[in-house]
Amino acid sequence: MIYKTDYHVHSRFSDGRSEPGDYISPAVAAGLKEIGFSEHLTLFRESLNWSMRGSDVKPYLDHIQSLSTNTTNIKVRTGLEVDFFPGKEKEISSFLDTINVDYVIGSVHYLGDLTVDMGPEFYDGKNIDTLFEIYFDNVSAAAASGLFDIIAHCDLIRIYGFKPSSDPEPLYRKLAKSFRPHDVAFELNTNGRNRPIMDFYPDRKYLKIFWEENVPVCVNSDAHMPSRVGQYFDEAYDLLRSAGYKEMAVFKNRERFMIPFE
Ligand SMILES: [Zn+2]
Ligand SMILES: [Zn+2]
Repeated sequence: MIYKTDYHVHSRFSDGRSEPGDYISPAVAAGLKEIGFSEHLTLFRESLNWSMRGSDVKPYLDHIQSLSTNTTNIKVRTGLEVDFFPGKEKEISSFLDTINVDYVIGSVHYLGDLTVDMGPEFYDGKNIDTLFEIYFDNVSAAAASGLFDIIAHCDLIRIYGFKPSSDPEPLYRKLAKSFRPHDVAFELNTNGRNRPIMDFYPDRKYLKIFWEENVPVCVNSDAHMPSRVGQYFDEAYDLLRSAGYKEMAVFKNRERFMIPFE
């Protein structure tokens, strides 16, 4: 039996649809051993309707901690999905030093002032090859920052199906190589299936590269509603097995443990 965890879940504390407690029964029904909440935290940007601000974090963590204490049929973990901004490492680090969580997921949503996943217009008139290179460089910088335990949807730039003009394999190789020295995990994010790309992140063709480069992995749903917790996980584990993976990364108090599939 695989020790299933889902560490990437959004509730009404950021852009999810439901109370955190509403995710517990579906998580148990999906056979998960741990569920972790990872609300968006986007520092340096005001008034986003999809993200918490710094001052929202404490009430959120108190809520999840209390849910964890009162839940016996599954372990409940506390996390955050934090936007990475190159050059702002110190500020993000100072903020993270003030809180206690089980893990921090680092995400690149922004390239400059705009996010890559808020509509295909972002890509209008832009060179797709250059966008892929910049996006992958930013994800590498997020990994190298040492701020994060897990890197989210590492090729989100695929979301609308735009493709570089040549095989992006070297980009994935460089990315995976950049993760290893910083001891950061990546996620197989199943929510891409519900987005325009209709497939997981990262591109399944390149999962083997992450295994060859010895990068630890988690399977995450990025659920924004209870019915999507643990969604498509069996397919995700099958893909990881085919790529060579035999163990999963689990987190507690910002420490990583590896648990074998069987
Ligand atoms: Zn995200
Ligand atoms: Zn997310």
